[in-house]
Amino acid sequence: MIRVRNPRNGQFDYEFAAPEPEALAQRARALRAAQHDWSALAIERRIGVLQRWKQQLLADRAVIVDALTTDTGRHLLAQAEFGGTVGAIDRWCAQAPALVRGDEGRSQSQPTITYRTQLVPYALVGVISPWNFPLTLSLIDAIPALLAGCAVLVKPSEVTPRFVVPLVRTIAAVPELAGVLDVIPGDGRAGAALVRLVDAVCFTGSVKTGRLVARAAAEQFVPAFLELGGKDPVIVTESADLELATDVVLRAAVLATGQACQSLERVYVQDTVYDQFVRRLVAKASAVPINYPDLHRGVIGPLIFHAQADVIAEQIDDAVRHGAKVLCGGQVEIHGGGGRWVRPTVVVYVNHAMKLMTEETFGPVMPVMKFHTVDEAVALANDGVYGLSAAVIAGTLEEAEAIAVRIDAGAVSLNDGSLTGVMHEAEKNSFKCSGLGGSRMGAAGLTRFFRKKALLRQTGQPATIGLFDESHAPRA
Ligand code: NAD
Repeated sequence: MIRVRNPRNGQFDYEFAAPEPEALAQRARALRAAQHDWSALAIERRIGVLQRWKQQLLADRAVIVDALTTDTGRHLLAQAEFGGTVGAIDRWCAQAPALVRGDEGRSQSQPTITYRTQLVPYALVGVISPWNFPLTLSLIDAIPALLAGCAVLVKPSEVTPRFVVPLVRTIAAVPELAGVLDVIPGDGRAGAALVRLVDAVCFTGSVKTGRLVARAAAEQFVPAFLELGGKDPVIVTESADLELATDVVLRAAVLATGQACQSLERVYVQDTVYDQFVRRLVAKASAVPINYPDLHRGVIGPLIFHAQADVIAEQIDDAVRHGAKVLCGGQVEIHGGGGRWVRPTVVVYVNHAMKLMTEETFGPVMPVMKFHTVDEAVALANDGVYGLSAAVIAGTLEEAEAIAVRIDAGAVSLNDGSLTGVMHEAEKNSFKCSGLGGSRMGAAGLTRFFRKKALLRQTGQPATIGLFDESHAPRA
């Protein structure tokens, strides 16, 4: 049995049986068998099935949100995850009809040859998801994959499995869907087994595990769509509105207790406004309350993954040992017996020799570093192994954009932060170690689940071998 901690009190109060490898393999076989009929359905029929599922989700909203709230120790974001998932079903259902049609055309060099592109879905897509947004990240790839005609096997994180039972109940209530979508909680062993059972894998998680998944996928020649960690920088220039800049940095760094891949984790501020920026940021950060003792009050939830508190504490200690100073927050607070909270933390006198500026923190920590020129700020932002996303805050959008185009990251928010969390239409790739594979956002979020097959029609006379006799070659 896998034991699970409650993040609000640190107690093990839930357990589940990890799936046996043979049980997983059996499920994969069943999903694969059902996929053929599923992909043969007209897109309107698949949309109809997903819409019926949405109705079932809405009917079971309270119980799913309750389980997610226990999984994550936060309530408003559990509601937001639920709302976002229902919204994703509607958004993809609206877009799918235009995305599932192959195109037709004619050869320019040999006009008697025409083609039709057949879009062939991967039969079985595996999804492996992390604990920070358990529902959202279990279904974010599954919904477009289902509409593309794939069957999907999801393995959510073992850290947050409580939402799975009520979710599976909603799937079982829609029999056509139950044949092609399965959600099975399990640990890393189940994740590793799953990669070997599927035709494409969507993985969201750490770089360390992503590398293992990429290797296993490469051995089998199946594509791996990897959405990994980040160390998102934000650049604040002297022309920026500091009230806006401090509001944005605080929100985008500490929302969800910093447990979001697109959280701002490094703050670079121009030297002329640095002191003023830090003063305002500390004043605002100090006023943000934790959501303890009352779940329904406060902003900062507990750390969902117990051991993440140790990572955060170690990075802050390392920075302080190397000369940094903590201006607010910075302590792991134990409440409710063994729940772990970290308040919004501002750290100054930081540099790139510190882990706090180079390794993913995944906590509500804002290390603030001074820069003199924009060139220096860009070099600092680009110094690191991650390239997930970034932000620039300047006096005008034009000034911010001129800086943004020089940053090595898949998305840059201008005069705001973490906009990838709410913008679903713009395609983006993760740069450097932050990921691999086609965009999860925009049209490619669905079309990447197709292989393109070209049906090439000869409408004239096929060439004969005689045409290739050397005697036809022009003499030089
Ligand atoms: P993790 O890598 O520890 O685990 C992710 C998933 O992989 C879990 O379901 C786990 O059971 C599974 N797993 C473990 N070992 C495996 C193996 N050998 N083979 C296959 N699967 C295996 O990540 P985590 O700690 O759950 O999540 C936090 C990380 O996720 C952070 O680095 C964060 O930045 C990243 N993340 C990225 C995005 C994004 O969109 N880029 C979004 C959210 C989170």
